[in-house]
Amino acid sequence: MHWCGVRNCSNSSRLADFEASRPWYLTFLQWECWDECDHFCMWHVVRLFEYNGQEIPQFHGKWPFYRFCGIQEPASVLFSILNGFVHYYMWQKFRKSVPNCPFSVIWNIQALLSINAWFWSTVFHTRDTPLTEKLDYFCAFSLVLYSFYSLCVRLCSSPKSWVPVTVAVPFLSYFIYHIYYLSYIRFDYGYNMKANVIIGLLNSCGWMLWCYKHRHKPYVWKCATSVLAVNLLLLLELCDFPPWKFMIDAHALWHLGTVPVPFLWYSFLTEDCLNEMNVLGLCINSVKKLG
Ligand SMILES: [Zn+2]
Repeated sequence: MHWCGVRNCSNSSRLADFEASRPWYLTFLQWECWDECDHFCMWHVVRLFEYNGQEIPQFHGKWPFYRFCGIQEPASVLFSILNGFVHYYMWQKFRKSVPNCPFSVIWNIQALLSINAWFWSTVFHTRDTPLTEKLDYFCAFSLVLYSFYSLCVRLCSSPKSWVPVTVAVPFLSYFIYHIYYLSYIRFDYGYNMKANVIIGLLNSCGWMLWCYKHRHKPYVWKCATSVLAVNLLLLLELCDFPPWKFMIDAHALWHLGTVPVPFLWYSFLTEDCLNEMNVLGLCINSVKKLG
């Protein structure tokens, strides 16, 4: 890499030549001279390893991927966009089906956080920088924490009370602490992973217990299947193998696997809201009758 940097990036006239010959999409995605050398040398080493029949190594903790128009991990980008699109599509369908859902604010915020998380996942897999990495991690964590919060609120039967705001206080405080710690004290991958796993497990166990308690409702299997599917797919994160054809690795497969989940999840939310509205309607009717 050093000779490449010296040859192309070491003085202003060479840098000007590099910038003049750089395609617009590499300029847009901020592939600077030294980044290009890094990328070029990575492929040089990969070819050498292939030629010698050795296993392909990781570079800066990442597998080598074919770059497409400056996009670092095209498969993960495509699957992240698909996830965001499916969330948006199903959210709109949900809003039209149950405009007066008692928990509508809770589920609308969850949909917005999901779309936001998939947007930053797209950005991060397009171009991996310290900033895009942080934004991807923080937005993914916001979703994990919010899912647990929404479960706590859902456990209370009356959403239009002081409960959602009161429950939000400790969750929001912890989220602010988490961001502050990772941004200003130490970007600790181990701690971030532990926080995601612990809250993710509490959330999954909580939802499965809720499903068991409400097993007589015909639509509860949709919730249980969504939760189980996400947990099974997460096992892919434990498998770390070199990308197939330098395109698809375990992380990309995890993003692909989550694409169908929102179909089931929003269908569950729709039926659960209809059920709650039915129960509330029945209550109002019985109160009117008693009155
Ligand atoms: Zn990702």
